[in-house]
Amino acid sequence: MVASPNSNPLALERAHMVEEQLRRRGISDERVLLAMGVVPREEFIVERYRDQAYADHPLPIPLGQTVSQPFIVGRMIEAAAVKPGNRVLEVGAGTGYEAAVLAEMGARVFTMERHAELAALARINLEQMQYANVSVITGDGSEGLPAEAPFDAILVAAAVPDFPPALFEQLAEGGRMVIPIGPPDLQALHLVRKVNGQTVMQRMDDCRFVPLIGKQGYSPAKP
Ligand code: SAM
Repeated sequence: MVASPNSNPLALERAHMVEEQLRRRGISDERVLLAMGVVPREEFIVERYRDQAYADHPLPIPLGQTVSQPFIVGRMIEAAAVKPGNRVLEVGAGTGYEAAVLAEMGARVFTMERHAELAALARINLEQMQYANVSVITGDGSEGLPAEAPFDAILVAAAVPDFPPALFEQLAEGGRMVIPIGPPDLQALHLVRKVNGQTVMQRMDDCRFVPLIGKQGYSPAKP
């Protein structure tokens, strides 16, 4: 799927990121660690910040958005317990990096992005990496993607003010949703599972994401 890690000059930094930022902080799912050790994050980062591709913080991407810190990406994917063949919805495609990690793990990925320019960027990045199992959809992902539901996992990569029932409805029975809920300046990452049709919520870490702008998210006027 992607070039051998050894052929990439940043492979050492990537391996270091996996050990120091992910494994040492408790991410233990070997499939997540393996995928994040393979996907060349630098290919998704704009030129100006490429030398920081494996830094332990989020990085700017076009249109005032960000690509999440590697630890947060790993934490979300591990919590979502993504398995090969799972149908996964990501809301907030950004650069396509997180979608690439999900695809590397063998998921069938649908990723939504409200900015057409970013959706195009994600598409180009994913095509260059030859990930065929990802569809990038331009549009408001706050209401999900009913035409492709149900999903085994939903990862929301932007902050919502309240729990979004429309997304929960699109989870399969036994499905997992990982989502930052809270005010714009600080949220709590939540794992939401569908058990016998009911919501089982577990609070994870404090976090800070850009706002999800949409019908079931923040309004563009007051993010
Ligand atoms: N997962 C991305 C990556 O790997 O590069 C980073 C996601 S970034 C933290 C959040 C993204 O959510 C932004 O690109 C933003 O434009 C997008 N977004 C915000 N509201 C959205 C909505 N209603 N539907 C889809 N995307 C949205």
